[in-house]
Amino acid sequence: MELKGTTISKQDIESGKVLFTRGDPNAHYTWDTGIGIGRYLEGLRKGKIFGTHCKKCNRTVIPPRVFCELCFSPNIEWRQLKETGVINTFSICYVNWDAQRVQTPHLPAVIEIDGATKGHGILHLLDEVDPKLIKIGMKVKAVWKRPEERTGAITDIQYFKPY
Ligand SMILES: [Zn+2]
Repeated sequence: MELKGTTISKQDIESGKVLFTRGDPNAHYTWDTGIGIGRYLEGLRKGKIFGTHCKKCNRTVIPPRVFCELCFSPNIEWRQLKETGVINTFSICYVNWDAQRVQTPHLPAVIEIDGATKGHGILHLLDEVDPKLIKIGMKVKAVWKRPEERTGAITDIQYFKPY
């Protein structure tokens, strides 16, 4: 596919051909996942997708919360959700994070995970699909890393594909 426009190269940036700014922030920090997200990530490491259910609101959300954000009830129940879902929205991206054009597009999508309340899902990537055939409502399934490669991260799911 021929892409219009002019690709910006690393050399263009380093030579000052394009406007940019460079910084060296003193950004040493650590990030605590907290109870909810920590348990969610540990589930991913085991190949399981967890959400939480508020009995009062009858709502199941993902990623899980340690209390209901609508009624503030701490009385939530952890539920294992399915590894399938439907596409809520998606994009076909021909530009990389560093403004480089890519021939094979990135396919970010919000996936409504089966078992969660409609409208609740996670942002992830699609693959093994012709971008022209992607539709909102398309059924997709998680493709996992091998168990020994998982680290307890959202990337333990490599991508979602139609099934
Ligand atoms: Zn609630």
